[in-house]
Amino acid sequence: MGDPPYPRVTLSRLPWPALAGNVPRNMTIPEQLLDSIRDAVGPKGWTTDDAELEPHLTERRGLWRGQCAMAVSPATTAEVGEVVALCHGAGVAVQPQGGNTGLVGGGVPDGGIVLSLARLNDLRQIDPINNTLTAEAGCVLADIQAAAEDVDRLFPLSLGAEGSCQIGGNLSTNAGGVQVLRYGTARDLVLGLEVVLPDGRVLDGLRALRKDNTGYDLKHLFIGSEGTLGVITAAVLKLFPRPRRIETALAAAASAEDALALFQRAAAKAADALTAFEFLDRRSLELAVAHVEGVRDPFAEAHRCYALIELSGFGDGDGGLKQTMEEILSGAMEQGIVADAVIAASGAQAAELWRLRDAVPEAQPAAGASIKHDVSVPVSRVPEFLTKARALVEADMPGVRPVAFGHLGDGNIHFNLSQPEDMDADAFLAEWQRVNRMVHDLVAELGGSFSAEHGIGTLKREDLKRYKTGPELDLMKALKAALDPKGIMNPGKVL
Ligand code: FAD
Ligand code: ZN
Repeated sequence: MGDPPYPRVTLSRLPWPALAGNVPRNMTIPEQLLDSIRDAVGPKGWTTDDAELEPHLTERRGLWRGQCAMAVSPATTAEVGEVVALCHGAGVAVQPQGGNTGLVGGGVPDGGIVLSLARLNDLRQIDPINNTLTAEAGCVLADIQAAAEDVDRLFPLSLGAEGSCQIGGNLSTNAGGVQVLRYGTARDLVLGLEVVLPDGRVLDGLRALRKDNTGYDLKHLFIGSEGTLGVITAAVLKLFPRPRRIETALAAAASAEDALALFQRAAAKAADALTAFEFLDRRSLELAVAHVEGVRDPFAEAHRCYALIELSGFGDGDGGLKQTMEEILSGAMEQGIVADAVIAASGAQAAELWRLRDAVPEAQPAAGASIKHDVSVPVSRVPEFLTKARALVEADMPGVRPVAFGHLGDGNIHFNLSQPEDMDADAFLAEWQRVNRMVHDLVAELGGSFSAEHGIGTLKREDLKRYKTGPELDLMKALKAALDPKGIMNPGKVL
């Protein structure tokens, strides 16, 4: 899958924000500090080799390219603490990095060191009775899911990058994915957190408790803070019963309003068994079918949009799950809100329907360059958002091709615009910020968020300034200054 021709922007061309601290950019790092770091982590824990540094300097879309003096991979929390304390002493920037699958440039270094969590990857404990799993930050998400399955439990966080993203990165970005509707975002799946603070001290909050009202709940400061307040080194995660039955269906609807009505119907009939409710517009489906091998349209006719519905059940009494799905869909057809529907008859067919959904972002580069929006609005306003956003961008740029898909059940739509067919890709991408502004202003009007899943990183800092209120920004800056007075943690990101 070729990546779109994004303009290559180096970090140094981007405006440098005023941080609480004063980390000099592009500074030469004292050799003595690098020696101390080498001593702290041992020969396997660092590299300054250009080829080995390379994957740490870029992100997958090639939007940014950074620089660093050394990539450091500590193998224990104590080593992370030592390295961060050394950098704190010298005022050198620390760039935490997980699987480097983030989509907003949050993990690209601009000087200082990269702190890779890849070697801090022990599964410290699984307690199936307490329904908890304690994992170090560098554990790959798919490995955590598999470890939970080994003890007949479910760890429900699930996203397209799960084969390479790490739990530390997932928590630092408060990742979402396809099961948020039932289980919440990454934040909702954590009981305890271990964090190395910007001065190198270890905050040991690895408590596996469902109830703990002992003052401020500090873990939530670090979850979603994108490495700007400390380094997450381990977490106690919540496990759930593993579903015994899963029912998957794809329904075709004539409008987003109908898809929303179907969502209401599914939520009312299935309640907690409704695990996912995903949306695809016609262009999303067409792109996936045309450009990703093995993906097919299960319907004979074209429809305006589609909803992928997943129900899952946990007990022996779930034989009725299939019936519930059938009732949801047949009733919806009688109501006239669903034009056609297929229910997967096997695991393989369910996987095929999910493949159709997952293939959309993969297929979009085939339609040329794209300008992306990862937005959320109240679920009830998704159709209004789609109608108004399409009208806005189509009036602004004739020929632009909106591709809208995502997590309708969470009110989170990936509203991506493929370039007009006859337009130069670079000329189109030059409009990125202006078009973002237009769409994000609409989202704000509808009471929504300009970044539903992917965070702020480098990409959305200006949006943060524009759409957060003064008191919110003041409080964020005050927290940053209190926790990281020298401004060494992931400088230049988020704020
Ligand atoms: P990285 O990219 O390495 O880092 C992300 C940010 O977290 C950076 O700011 C970094 O400094 C910080 N960080 C990383 N580890 C730590 C740590 N241990 N301590 C402190 N800070 C740290 N995201 C979603 O939310 N939902 C999706 O459905 C989704 N689908 C995706 C599909 C694909 C194909 C791809 C490529 C990405 C997708 N993403 C999605 C985005 C991305 O996978 C998530 O943001 C993920 O949580 C990032 O994890 P990572 O380990 O790759 O973190
Ligand atoms: Zn998503």
